[in-house]
Amino acid sequence: MRRPVLPEPSPERLAGLDDAALHQALLERVEAAWKLCRGYHPELPKPKVWCDLRGKSAGQAHYGRGGLRFNPVLLRENRCAFLSEVVPHEMAHWLVRHLSDGHKARPHGHEWRTVMERLFGLAANVTHSFDTGRASPRPHRYHCGCQAHFFTSRRHSLVHNGRSYRCLACAQTLVYQPFVAHEEGATNV
Ligand SMILES: [Zn+2]
Ligand SMILES: [Zn+2]
Repeated sequence: MRRPVLPEPSPERLAGLDDAALHQALLERVEAAWKLCRGYHPELPKPKVWCDLRGKSAGQAHYGRGGLRFNPVLLRENRCAFLSEVVPHEMAHWLVRHLSDGHKARPHGHEWRTVMERLFGLAANVTHSFDTGRASPRPHRYHCGCQAHFFTSRRHSLVHNGRSYRCLACAQTLVYQPFVAHEEGATNV
């Protein structure tokens, strides 16, 4: 059984933070993840941090700018998942890239997966679960042409087995939409 190495963030504490305090919590999490990586690779430079990413991507390791970019909207809406999954995800890219031969590694290839699993004790996922409130009965996010829909695990598994659902408002088929680490192709810039 895999266990996260960094302490699990407290949902209650995170829920009460304003934007400035949440940004501070992000910086502290980046620092903790960086220190963990330094134990493995002492030369690893400390990344700068920007909260300037928009759209569906949660984060991005930006080697040209020398740091990590994060999406402030997804951070605000998914505080726990963001700190426990997205920060290590991007820091793992940062670490792999700074290893000798790291520039040759595929973005979510063997090296990155090894860091996620062995160093951080996490599953090497490229999508993240949404925080939908404490112990939400509807944790699975879907979208149509007009809005987000949240499904129970039972309904989500029915979709997995071939059932499809339409939006009553716009009549489009609902499509599963976890939030993603990066847009396709945006990883390695
Ligand atoms: Zn709709
Ligand atoms: Zn990634």
